This record gives sequence, structure tokens and C-alpha cells, in this order.
Amino acid sequence: MAMQCKKCQGILEVARSCRRLRMRCTRCGHEFHLHEVADLLDEETEELLARYTVLIYD
Ligand SMILES: [Zn+2]
Repeated sequence: MAMQCKKCQGILEVARSCRRLRMRCTRCGHEFHLHEVADLLDEETEELLARYTVLIYD
């Protein structure tokens, strides 16, 4: 199950920019802070995010 954008139901993907992580919508381009979509995280995404432990979690 993919993570869905709260605005347009598009698919969210992990986006790295500088030292920050965001979940970006592939449809509308909106970027969500991780805490905004924390309730939507699936196992696959959590594992992906776990690889970025050196990055700032803001
Ligand atoms: Zn969207």
C-alpha cells in the first residue's frame, strides 16, 4: 500500500533535499514534513527512512 497525499490522494515518495527529508507528492508536488504523515507511514517507507538516520529529523 502506497502512502497517499492528504491533498490530492497522489502517491508520496521520499524526497531528500540537503540534510532534510520530506515526503513529496508525485502528483501535486506538495512536500510534507515527516511528522505530518507519521500516521501514514507503512513498513516499507519506515525501512527506507531508517537508512537516513544521519539526517536531521525535523
Ligand atoms: Zn498531492
